[in-house]
Amino acid sequence: MQLSYLSEPSVLYNLQYRYSQDMIYTKAGPVLVAVNPFKKVALYGNEYIKAYRNKTMDSPHVYAIADSALREMKSDEVNQSIIISGESGAGKTETAKIAMQYLASLGGGSGIEYEILQTNPILEAFGNAKTLRNDNSSRFGKLIEIHFSTTGRICGAMIQTFLLEKSRVVQCAVGERSYHIFYQLCAGAPTTLREKLNLKKVDEYKYLKQSCCYSIAGVDDAEMFRAVTEAMNIVHISKEDQDNVFAMVSAVLWLGDVSFTIIDNENHVEITVEEAAETVSRLLGCSIEDLNLVLSKRHMKVNNENIVQKLTLTQATDTRDALAKALYASLFEWLVEQINKSLSVGKRRTGRSISILDIYGFESFDKNSFEQFCINYANERLQQHFNRHLFKLEQEEYVEDGIDWAKVEFEDNQDCLNLFEKKPLGLLSLLDEESTFPNATDLTFANKLKQHLDTNSCFRGERGKAFTVRHYAGEVAYDTSGFLEKNRDLLHMDSIQFLAKCKLSIPQTFASKMLAQSDNLESIPYRPSVADSQKLSVAMKFKGQLFQLMQRLESTTPHFIRCIKPNNLQLPAIYGQELVLQQLKCCGVLEVVRISRSGYPTRMTHQKFARRHSC
Ligand code: ADP
Ligand code: MG
Repeated sequence: MQLSYLSEPSVLYNLQYRYSQDMIYTKAGPVLVAVNPFKKVALYGNEYIKAYRNKTMDSPHVYAIADSALREMKSDEVNQSIIISGESGAGKTETAKIAMQYLASLGGGSGIEYEILQTNPILEAFGNAKTLRNDNSSRFGKLIEIHFSTTGRICGAMIQTFLLEKSRVVQCAVGERSYHIFYQLCAGAPTTLREKLNLKKVDEYKYLKQSCCYSIAGVDDAEMFRAVTEAMNIVHISKEDQDNVFAMVSAVLWLGDVSFTIIDNENHVEITVEEAAETVSRLLGCSIEDLNLVLSKRHMKVNNENIVQKLTLTQATDTRDALAKALYASLFEWLVEQINKSLSVGKRRTGRSISILDIYGFESFDKNSFEQFCINYANERLQQHFNRHLFKLEQEEYVEDGIDWAKVEFEDNQDCLNLFEKKPLGLLSLLDEESTFPNATDLTFANKLKQHLDTNSCFRGERGKAFTVRHYAGEVAYDTSGFLEKNRDLLHMDSIQFLAKCKLSIPQTFASKMLAQSDNLESIPYRPSVADSQKLSVAMKFKGQLFQLMQRLESTTPHFIRCIKPNNLQLPAIYGQELVLQQLKCCGVLEVVRISRSGYPTRMTHQKFARRHSC
């Protein structure tokens, strides 16, 4: 079926008809549309892989996309990328794994391909969680670059992750869970480990209790724990390191249970010395005194004089939670580093690679915070990449080549990107500026936005602390509560020094690295006592990462896969036409169909044409 020559209603009709026949993949011009089946479909495995490899099968499929990426990489000698997008729960992560499976089937020798596949259960355990939308929702973005040798086999890989949602460690909504690994460890740790880590039941930890959700239908956390440790063995994480990893996981949980005793009438506190504090100090390898010090006091420099400030209950609790988040984030970072070491590219590299991007999709909830703000900004950037490749570049080329061509209009999102990125009066700049003022609040930030951006057509100020952005995928109202703090993401110098003194190696290395980077601590007036490595705000770091990502993607030939969620219930055989239409519309797939219908399906340079077809 050649969908490229069909009209909009027939696209919709075909998609639904094919879905009812378990044909979840459909081509819309050059874009592969994948509709989540929410059940096992018989479309995968070795027989299918072989069939696509030998071209005895050519119906739309992730395998077909991965196969053309491989072929084009070899024939054109250009790196390739497979860019997967869609809403939360649409099937991006599963699709990425299916693509990896196809590439891994090429083999590489020495089991590297198996290692690459085994990174998935590890990163999912530590970076995925059950949310209201998806039982296995990725809370970080991921790019995996798979490298090929001269013989066309896999010779290594490199993973880059983006913006892990740290707040989930200390706080999550009712009905959701924190990261899988917490539940897996508690359910699956063998007796000796359980005793060593002093593990409790999941419903006994404060951090896990608050959401009243402990299990996932159809998932055995204990079994998953064994799968994760097995995967860690395969990517060469030593038993000793694994023990350290789980000590950190347990320490984070116990840290949440550390409570405080009020010691004076100004609400100043000390930690309560009981099981929680004792377990944390034992697991991290620090003294109870040091733990008490870091959670109840803060060193400050006022008028060039060092003073020690006692913390109130609220401040101490915030410090404790910030420490838990930092511990977990450093653990995640460490894991990615270990995985990359294990997968690092061998000597026979050609410099040729295929990258697979699985990044959080557009999010619009009843309440949208800083996390959605960053995620949706990333999606604007990706949408522009998509637009550039499928509309702008193609049409510009036609015009340049003097081809008689009636321009197809498409929804350009440059205005929205400008709203975010313009200096000095864009959302990101204004956020950063406000984050530098010690007395700024979320309200002053919201007011500043309204003052400077109200004439922007993509922006609308709302009452109180809120504002609305007109994204390509729809309007989203953001609540600025917590924006400044999350953007600053401060870990106080005391906390860094505390971690550096711990005997447990992962946080210790992490903190020492931060200290080493900060020779000039007082250089930032608005951030007293923080390390230089924290100079960049979260939003700015993220923006930098995104620019780098876009640059990398620009040098590749892109293949786009759009995942579609046919219902919000995570159930098979329910197809919401409106829901599907809305997703197709907002990601530009329908326009792609229009343009491919009137455009030319194949384009080649003279050199490439000659290379391919000359005798
Ligand atoms: P996303 O990464 O877009 O948030 P996931 O890839 O985690 O979404 O998919 C959500 C769920 O949908 C999966 O846990 C799985 O149950 C189901 N699913 C997605 N793609 C497929 C597929 N190709 N076959 C079977 N089930 C799928
Ligand atoms: Mg995902």
